[in-house]
Amino acid sequence: MAIWNLGSINADMVYALPHLPAPGETLAASGLQRFLGGKGANMSVAAARAGAHVRHIGAVGSDGLWARDRLTEYGVDTRHIAQVDQPTGHAIIAVDAQGENLIILFPGANHAIGADQVSAALTDSDTGDLLVFQNETTAQVEAAKLGRERGLTVCYAAAPFSAPAVQAVLPYLDFLILNEVEAAQLQQATGLAPADLPVEHVIVTLGSKGARYHQRGQVAAEFPAHKVKAVDTTGAGDTFTGYVLAGMDRGMPMAQAITQANRAAALMVMRPGTADVIPDLKEVREAAL
Ligand code: ADP
Repeated sequence: MAIWNLGSINADMVYALPHLPAPGETLAASGLQRFLGGKGANMSVAAARAGAHVRHIGAVGSDGLWARDRLTEYGVDTRHIAQVDQPTGHAIIAVDAQGENLIILFPGANHAIGADQVSAALTDSDTGDLLVFQNETTAQVEAAKLGRERGLTVCYAAAPFSAPAVQAVLPYLDFLILNEVEAAQLQQATGLAPADLPVEHVIVTLGSKGARYHQRGQVAAEFPAHKVKAVDTTGAGDTFTGYVLAGMDRGMPMAQAITQANRAAALMVMRPGTADVIPDLKEVREAAL
């Protein structure tokens, strides 16, 4: 089976600054590092590292061909990543000496993905494949509907959170994953607790407390996180999701997929970086946690 990921691809541009700039201030950075990022790209890499066959549906500009190449290098099928006449999505991340940051996010090409591109890609999909998307691209509702029509398992990672965005795709979902804050926001908007949502599988991630799994009509199950020294939690959630999806795609019981995802995410919080440092299955299995 395959995992189809309608997902964002970003260049994360990290500038080292002595302090965060004040309004009107011009400040020279002492360093610049460029990383592959975007929730979509992170999830594709995580699922591929977990051993899944991942097919990414996305878009980059002419300045982002390196990002597409890097996804290919990481084992992601990139034939459905279009090159469009827009700048590649990017995050300008300023980090000061204390580690405080400031982020400007520009969606760029991620917002140039049309329903036609998604439907052309999904003509290659098979019943039983997984479709996942997040809230960093266009064409989410069309993808969800089409996924449902084609008999795919439709999965949504509700981040960055927007209640209307979740509500628009909710009727088509088989699987929803969100963090504790997002779950509370969704409950506020809909009046529905995670256990009451009309979705077969709901996972609420709980940061250092792990994750809670609600299967529709059943008692929720808790999966505690590993006790590790957190260095950088960016990418932990995306890694968790990628590993859960890869487990589901392989037909693993959900409990086993979540257990493995907790291990992968624990390794992620112990190291700086995102897509480039996501652990592979061997590392996840063998790590002493
Ligand atoms: P998000 O980053 O999407 O908000 P969470 O913060 O809930 O998501 O984290 C996702 C997963 O990462 C958790 O379910 C857990 O497995 C792992 N995780 C996050 N923070 C820690 C931590 N401090 N220690 C161990 N595991 C963690």
